[in-house]
Amino acid sequence: MAELVQRYLDQIRAEHADDGDGALADYIPELATVDPDRFGLSLSLADGYIYESGDAAVEFTIQSVSKPFTYALALEHIGADAVDAKIGVEPSGEAFNEISVDERTKIPKNPMINAGAITAASLVPGTGVDDRFERILEFYSACAGRELSVDEDVYASEKATGARNRAIAYMLQSFGVLDGDPDRILDVYFRQCSITVTSTDLARMAATLARGGVDPGHGRRLMHPAVVQRTLSVMVTCGMYDAAGDWVSAVGLPAKSGVGGGIAAVLPGQLGIGVYSPLLDEKGHSVRGVRVCRSLSESLGLHFLSVPRESRSTIRASYDVESGVRVYELHGDLLFAGAERVLRTLERECVDFDVAILEISRVDDIDDAARRMLAGMRESLRRLDKDGYIVDPDAAMADAEVTVHVFATLDEALAAAAQLRASDG
Ligand code: GLN
Repeated sequence: MAELVQRYLDQIRAEHADDGDGALADYIPELATVDPDRFGLSLSLADGYIYESGDAAVEFTIQSVSKPFTYALALEHIGADAVDAKIGVEPSGEAFNEISVDERTKIPKNPMINAGAITAASLVPGTGVDDRFERILEFYSACAGRELSVDEDVYASEKATGARNRAIAYMLQSFGVLDGDPDRILDVYFRQCSITVTSTDLARMAATLARGGVDPGHGRRLMHPAVVQRTLSVMVTCGMYDAAGDWVSAVGLPAKSGVGGGIAAVLPGQLGIGVYSPLLDEKGHSVRGVRVCRSLSESLGLHFLSVPRESRSTIRASYDVESGVRVYELHGDLLFAGAERVLRTLERECVDFDVAILEISRVDDIDDAARRMLAGMRESLRRLDKDGYIVDPDAAMADAEVTVHVFATLDEALAAAAQLRASDG
């Protein structure tokens, strides 16, 4: 039944398939020659389940999507006080590569612009460039759940052409922000930007943040919750640079973009999104990436300020009434991620029943996305030669285009199930 969600994802991706606006990054040749039509979309739920659509296996360089992860690593290793002494948390309203420090404090305004990101790379402990970078690569790999590597050509080009970043690093040295040789610190930063990922890697990395620092694949804790909270905060306020206000209003997910064409977005407690589409707007964000995130957020109800409560323990209880009929009692707020979980549970368990009855009388609130998904449940079950009913005494499903049988009481649903099973012989 995961195919219901899969269809949503494919549909949303298809809606944007023909958007051809934007331009490839061209400050280095490697980025200017990628296929502009590539378009990958991935979703990782908090339990590690992955949905993929389009070019989700195509690799591209992570670029600035790396910044929140290196910031988190610095926080993890040296603590917030030491990091705060070197990097602020105020949105700059400037382009990502602005040569600037905060006027008053003389440190970079935030860790999402290059000045702050180069400083963050300098704060990751290590005995030298290789050691420090290894730590970064290992950390990203753990978040992504697979071993990542570096695109050596992009790295060489970044290093050869990085005048702007060099200007930033030397400025930072002059203000006493960078300890150590600026070129060696830049070397770490350039390598970090040149790590290759897929949209699925980004979704997994985002889901690690969504789970408060626990990687969804293996359940290992990679960051402290306080580090994640701080990282997500700067992603909200600064992740999309001078477009942060638009992004938060329209999409409402902590996020980070990169000039390689990637965007990672996080719905705390619920899921991570990864998108890849390399045509960029003038601020350096993937045009289709922004649009598809906006559509996803709107149609699945993901805006973080409209999701007041987590929906993890949606299934309160399940039991067999008689052989072949299983009742699932749902409770709490039923939102996209909760409904997705319910559908996947049904799919997993459908070998054990002929009819599933979802009892939703204890559900406090159900949003449109969840309603649509429950409404589509029957169609999916029918394809597996099963059936699904809903017990909905408060008419919470009333507005849905219902193809599923809805009953006012459990007894009525059970009677219908018994009849169905009798007629099926
Ligand atoms: N490598 C790029 C730079 O440092 C990354 C910038 C970005 O992705 N916004 O300029």
